[in-house]
Amino acid sequence: RSDEQRLLITGGAGFIGAAVVRRVLSDGHAVCTYDKLTYAADRDFVAEVAQHPRHLFVQGDVCDPVLVASTIASFRPTAILHLAAESHVDRSIDGPAAFVQTNVVGTQVMLDAALAYWRDLPAAQKTGFRFHHISTDEVFGSVEAPDRFHPDTPYDPSSPYSASKAASDLLVRAWHRTYGLPIVLSNCSNNYGPRQFPEKLIPLMIIKALREEPLPVYGDGGNVRDWLHVEDHVDALLAVLTRGKIGATYLIGGGTEMTNLDLVGRICDLVDAKAPSENGARRRLISFVEDRPGHDRRYAIDASATERDLGWKPARAFDAALDELVDWYLARRAWWEAILAERYDAKRIGKAAA
Ligand code: NAD
Repeated sequence: RSDEQRLLITGGAGFIGAAVVRRVLSDGHAVCTYDKLTYAADRDFVAEVAQHPRHLFVQGDVCDPVLVASTIASFRPTAILHLAAESHVDRSIDGPAAFVQTNVVGTQVMLDAALAYWRDLPAAQKTGFRFHHISTDEVFGSVEAPDRFHPDTPYDPSSPYSASKAASDLLVRAWHRTYGLPIVLSNCSNNYGPRQFPEKLIPLMIIKALREEPLPVYGDGGNVRDWLHVEDHVDALLAVLTRGKIGATYLIGGGTEMTNLDLVGRICDLVDAKAPSENGARRRLISFVEDRPGHDRRYAIDASATERDLGWKPARAFDAALDELVDWYLARRAWWEAILAERYDAKRIGKAAA
C-alpha cells in the first residue's frame, strides 16, 4: 500500500507503547518494537506479536548507540515514536540514576541516531520523516485551580522522573532548532486502561480492593489528576504524528480532573458492586499514608489547542471506561497475579502511585 508507514516504536512493550503497536499493526503499518524489556514490559504482548508478519521485535537499550543505529539502518523507518522510559515516580525517588540514564541519555542517543539516518534519506522521504517524542504533563509541576497547563507553561518539574522527562523534551527541541531534525512532541496527562503495570494508581487500587488489602492514599488524598484512557491517547498520538506541525508541542488530556481520594472511592464502589465482600464496603480499606516528597498537588491540561488544530477529542467517558477496566482486572486475575508473584517489588506494596 502506498500509505504504509514503517514505525520504529521505542518502549513498544510498555503499557502505552503496546497499545500504539497493536493499533498501528491493525491499521496495516509495519512496526519495529525496540524495547529493553525492563520489569515494566508486557512479555505476553511480545509473545503475542512475535509471529506477526509486519512486526519486528528488537530487544535493546535506547542507551546503546550501536544497536539503535543498526536497528534504524536495517528497518528504515518513516517515523520514530520514542516512548521508552523509566516511568514510575516512586521508583525515581528511590533510585534516580536509571531515570537520568534511560530518559535523558537514552533520548540523546535516539536523537543522534535519528539525525544521522534522516540526513542521509533521499529528499522525498526526508520531508515525511518525524521523530515523535512522547512525554508527560508532569514536566510543568503543580498548577493551582482554575489555571491549567498550556503549551507555553514554563517547565517546573518536581520529581526525578518529571525532571528527567523535562530534560528529554528540551533535548528534542534542541535537535530541531540546532540540527533541523523534524520533531513533534506531546505531553499527556495520566493514562489508564488494560495491562497497566500494577504499581500505578488505578490498577494498584483495583487489585488491592479485590484482595481486600488496605488502599494506601498519599497525604490527604486531595491531589488532583486528569485521567485519559490509553486508547484516547493512542488516537491523539496518531493525530500528532500524521497532522502535527514540525517543531510543535501538543498537550493531551482527558478533561477528567478528580482527587485521588475521589478516584479510589469510585474504584471501591465498582469493586463492591462486581465482587461483593462479606466484610462490608471497600471504602473501609482506604488508609492515608505519609505524603510522597515533592508530591505535586494538581495537574490540569488545557488540550483545546490540540483539539482545535488536530481535530482530536477524547472519545471515552471516564466512569464507563473505569467500570470496564474493573471487569478487565476481574477477568484477568491470572495476568496480574503472575506479575505480583514474579516482578512486583514488595517494598512498593504500601505505596500509592499517581
Ligand atoms: P511503561 O513503564 O509501562 O513502559 C516503558 C517501556 O519502556 C517498557 O516496555 C520498558 O521495557 C521500556 N524501557 C525502559 N527503559 C528502556 C531502555 N533503556 N531502553 C529500551 N526500552 C526501555 O511506561 P508507559 O506508561 O507506557 O509510558 C510510555 C511513555 O509515555 C513514557 O515515555 C512516559 O514518560 C510517557 N507518558 C506516560 C504516561 C502514563 O500515564 N503512563 C502519561 C504521559 C506520558
